[in-house]
Amino acid sequence: MTTTIPAPVTPPTPDLVAFLAEYWGVKVTTASDIPAAQCEWCAEVDAITTVRVIGDPPDDSTAWAARDCCRACTEPVLAAAHAEQREGSRHPIRLELAA
Ligand SMILES: [Zn+2]
Repeated sequence: MTTTIPAPVTPPTPDLVAFLAEYWGVKVTTASDIPAAQCEWCAEVDAITTVRVIGDPPDDSTAWAARDCCRACTEPVLAAAHAEQREGSRHPIRLELAA
């Protein structure tokens, strides 16, 4: 008697860009002007900035409008941008990826 072992199923690769656009209202683009520098969000060794998050905070707040971070920090930085986003802003939060 032989036993058939099912082939491993490759998990579907989520379409991150579509996910971000649909559920977070984030516009994802690429950019060539993101300097490779130490990520100041996590300050981890070898965490190099490859991502830029651009939000639209109220003018009277001290929140940052744009911040560069490493890929690992993308989610918390996006969450911070959402938290500070101007009420009723017509500018979507943008996520730029170093090209
Ligand atoms: Zn980081």
